[in-house]
Amino acid sequence: MINILNECKDAKTIGISGHVRPDGDCVGSVSALYQFLKKSLKNTEIEVLLEEPSGVFSDVPAYELMTGSYDKQTEFDVFIILDSVMDRIGFAEEYAKKAKKTINIDHHISNEGIDCDVNYIVPTASSCAELVYEVIGEENLDEQIAKSIYIGIIHDCGVFQYSNTSPKTLRIAANLLEYGFDFPKLIDETFYEKTYVQNQILGRALLESILFMDGKCIASMIDRKLMEFYNATSKDFDGIVNQLRIVKGVECAIFMYEIGTLEYKISLRSCGAVDVAKVASYFGGGGHVRAAGCTMCGTYYDVLNNLSKEIAKQFPNMD
Ligand code: 5GP
Ligand code: MN
Repeated sequence: MINILNECKDAKTIGISGHVRPDGDCVGSVSALYQFLKKSLKNTEIEVLLEEPSGVFSDVPAYELMTGSYDKQTEFDVFIILDSVMDRIGFAEEYAKKAKKTINIDHHISNEGIDCDVNYIVPTASSCAELVYEVIGEENLDEQIAKSIYIGIIHDCGVFQYSNTSPKTLRIAANLLEYGFDFPKLIDETFYEKTYVQNQILGRALLESILFMDGKCIASMIDRKLMEFYNATSKDFDGIVNQLRIVKGVECAIFMYEIGTLEYKISLRSCGAVDVAKVASYFGGGGHVRAAGCTMCGTYYDVLNNLSKEIAKQFPNMD
């Protein structure tokens, strides 16, 4: 455990960041820690350096600070990276690198805990938000902090359905509910609700998915043309890979979308038999045993081939 106020006690300036394409856990964790530090360290300047998240998070307390840019030349006394490694925080990396002290709070198994001066990395935690809860301390919560942490937790454990949900996760969630925020609304609006276009894209991805390795793997891809046709961005693809994964018989799901010419962002999900963190790490990415990602280059079929070879290594009877 780390004593965050102790680590920050002499700081005049603190920067907080998380990974690119921030998800609910990243947004909730940054929001919660920002609010806590803001109210605890009245004379410290605290800045959020995070890419703009999906609009579904617009009710998250610190959302308006997540603008995707920072134009001052601050050399932060303390820089805190949440839910990420150093090389995945985008424009914030240059500020983190020149900060006097760096702190990393994360739950990715692929994070070796070597990027920062102070590291609190717990791969068994459901979410980074669960760790932020511990770091802040139950006695220091308020309704807005509780709501932020709750959003972080539900997004990384699929509203308590994935195997990373522990009894501790549920106990924390129970404590958070004491603060009385409208949790069914949060779950609907940030997790389940889809726009018409998002549902159409999901439909296209399912329709064009392919099964391989005797039905143990499934893959689907959204290319630039389709993204342009629907005027869609990566924020519109949430949930597609999870829908692919639940196909009966499937052990491993691959979803990818084009981020540049012959360049794809890959999402991997596993039902348990395949360690997708291992697969993603092999290609320079990372994540968790059952949910991971990376970026790869080549044609769709090249990428699929390369991924399949790595996945097949984990099925001893297949080549
Ligand atoms: P998603 O598929 O939802 O984008 O990501 C699944 C998990 O893998 C998340 O925990 C995410 O942080 C992690 N992840 C996704 N892409 C990358 C990547 O390129 N590098 C690393 N280190 N982690 C990733
Ligand atoms: Mn996370």
